[in-house]
Amino acid sequence: MAFEGLADKLSAAFKRLKSKGKLNEADVKEAMREVRLALLEADVNYKVAKDFTNTVSARAVGTEVMESLTPAQMVIKIVNEELTALMGGSDAKLASPPSPPTIIMLCGLQGAGKTTHAGKLGLMLKNKGHRPLLVACDIYRPAAIKQLQVVGENAGVPVFEMGQEDPVKICKAAVRHARDYGNDMVLIDTAGRLQIDEVLMNELKNIKNEIGPHEILLVVDSMTGQEAVNVAKTFDELLNITGVILTKLDGDTRGGAALSVRAVTGKPIKFAGTGEKLQDLEIFHPDRMASRILG
Ligand code: GDP
Repeated sequence: MAFEGLADKLSAAFKRLKSKGKLNEADVKEAMREVRLALLEADVNYKVAKDFTNTVSARAVGTEVMESLTPAQMVIKIVNEELTALMGGSDAKLASPPSPPTIIMLCGLQGAGKTTHAGKLGLMLKNKGHRPLLVACDIYRPAAIKQLQVVGENAGVPVFEMGQEDPVKICKAAVRHARDYGNDMVLIDTAGRLQIDEVLMNELKNIKNEIGPHEILLVVDSMTGQEAVNVAKTFDELLNITGVILTKLDGDTRGGAALSVRAVTGKPIKFAGTGEKLQDLEIFHPDRMASRILG
């Protein structure tokens, strides 16, 4: 299960804290040292872990907490609030431009789950009463177009493709098609690569500049921990992404990506992928995720 190691370690640290009854500053410092280690072991970015425990300590070492009847509970409450804030506070919404369609560009490295999540998002939007259109822009691998078509068919969402045509031309034609046929959401499945390279980035920048998407969502694999955060940082620097879709949260991911992406990039996690099936997509709720981590 995701976050298992982190949840266990936090729970052990808080158990010790609870056993102490009244707390002094040293008790809080010691607990925060354990929390910091637990975060680092969960592959949370070093600076994020340090800032986090400093913030919690600063709030916890106050008379209000120390002199309360249940000081350990108060510390746990603060940790919960700060974990929620760390992941973005409230739920992030998709942009809704004054005139449709909303253009959403999905990007990410190969294998992160981009095509699958284009389908999942298409299905979720369709179920909310939208009329999404999936656009096949991964023109380098014919199998990718086919894969999107299969995903689209399973989700009951139409797929726009023009084979190996130039991606910008495909996107422009897709947006025209969406206007003509009343599709209010256009989801562009862009090309993935094994690594970030200049050709890929130039292609994505071109699409961005020519099409002007309302959302640029980066799909990252939570199983890759800090690597996912580094990928997000680079994509954000080059493309100014609007949010992240964090995939494979159903696996035994340690939690580092979920906890660091927002702090490192300043961009929210908007959706979480929780399985291989098309239904396995959730809106990312920072408060629920924090409660899950705290067990
Ligand atoms: P792309 O190369 O980024 O388009 O990645 P794909 O969409 O082809 O997904 C790569 C693999 O990851 C596929 O086998 C998917 O079934 C799997 N996958 C995608 N999302 C999830 C998820 O949330 N959970 C799990 N367990 N597997 C996923």
